Amino acid sequence: MLYQSFLIKYAEIGTKGKNRYLFEDALMKQIRHVLKEVDGTFAVSKESGRIYVDAKGEYDYDEAIEALKRVFGIAWICPMFQTEEKDFELLKKQVVSYVDRVYPDKHLTFKVDSRRADKKYPVPSEQMNRDLGEVVLEAFPEMKVDVHHPQILLKVEIRNLVNIYSVMIPGPGGMPIGTNGRAMLLLSGGIDSPVAGYMIAKRGVKIDAVYFHAPPYTSERARQKVVDLAKLVARYSGPIKLHVVNFTDIQLYIYEKCPHEELTIIMRRYMMKIAESIARETECLALITGESIGQVASQTVQSLAATNEVCTMPVFRPVIGFDKQEIVDISEKIGTYETSIQPYEDCCTIFVAKHPVTKPNIKGIQRSEEHLAEKIDEMVAIALKTREVLDCQ
Ligand code: ATP
Ligand code: MG
Repeated sequence: MLYQSFLIKYAEIGTKGKNRYLFEDALMKQIRHVLKEVDGTFAVSKESGRIYVDAKGEYDYDEAIEALKRVFGIAWICPMFQTEEKDFELLKKQVVSYVDRVYPDKHLTFKVDSRRADKKYPVPSEQMNRDLGEVVLEAFPEMKVDVHHPQILLKVEIRNLVNIYSVMIPGPGGMPIGTNGRAMLLLSGGIDSPVAGYMIAKRGVKIDAVYFHAPPYTSERARQKVVDLAKLVARYSGPIKLHVVNFTDIQLYIYEKCPHEELTIIMRRYMMKIAESIARETECLALITGESIGQVASQTVQSLAATNEVCTMPVFRPVIGFDKQEIVDISEKIGTYETSIQPYEDCCTIFVAKHPVTKPNIKGIQRSEEHLAEKIDEMVAIALKTREVLDCQ
């Protein structure tokens, strides 16, 4: 095995002053969570401004890297060689052996960048750079020094232990899950809402989700697709509680009582209301949707305003200004696209009118909703009470 340890570098969380340990602990928790899936045993620890992952014995390197690339808050994953050996003469040997193992072909340029976090270390970093550079050149005459654009930037850090590394793999960025509260994602089977959930989770928000289905108009397969999507998002966000709400009676009632061209808007208003009730019960402080301006009739600015009017919680719409292709690109990158395009019916598409309103007037919509007065509150209460809650991870 080439590497037994990884140095994890984080970006933004380094700036959080006194609360820094909370960020580091959340990051370590999520690292441990994703590594559970990886073949191998790992220890995760921290040392001022650094997080380390150590593999105990054999492990699957590619799986470990893939898992770490899904941990929000990680800026860089650096596979490294770590040694207790601080004696400078012996350290020189370790550095040469590192270069030899990691770079079988030596026709490369390099530069040594050493740092003493331990200021009591007898050799100043300038001298370390020079002396370590020299021993590498002696050992491998094919190599050349290039201080401006080296192909290998060889880092040597003297801390409690000595870290030697030169490979830096980019992490996803963002902030550790759990450091920025909790929000409720309206998750459909489409392309946009899983991407929206991913984007908000990336900022450290723990997410739950709600899915409205309309059996028998929507199938078990359609529901399973949403469960599958929740599981895919959970690879990044950690476990998601998915609330599955039976929306059939409410939809049929709206269909019976309201003008058909207003159906989608009124339906969407009830989805938001119900999602907000569940959010309150589960200590979520915001809603998340995959809406994008102008994508469909229910996402014109007027329609968005009409939908938004029923909520008092903030509604996060992270893809609001994205073109479809930009959303597709993210869904491909995060691995939800293939599942999202499976062709199962969506409860929104079943009752759609031929000519839905694109510029709904809020007063008019409210008047139409008055026709629902007799039964709607009870129906909403039943929908809330009979919902199923699934653990997706
Ligand atoms: P998506 O690709 O996310 O399905 P969409 O382009 O199909 O979005 P709409 O169907 O108008 O757009 O839905 C807009 C947003 O409303 C979705 O992104 C999602 O957040 C929410 N939503 C729509 N249908 C449902 C549903 N059945 N259950 C839960 N949320 C839904
Ligand atoms: Mg949809």
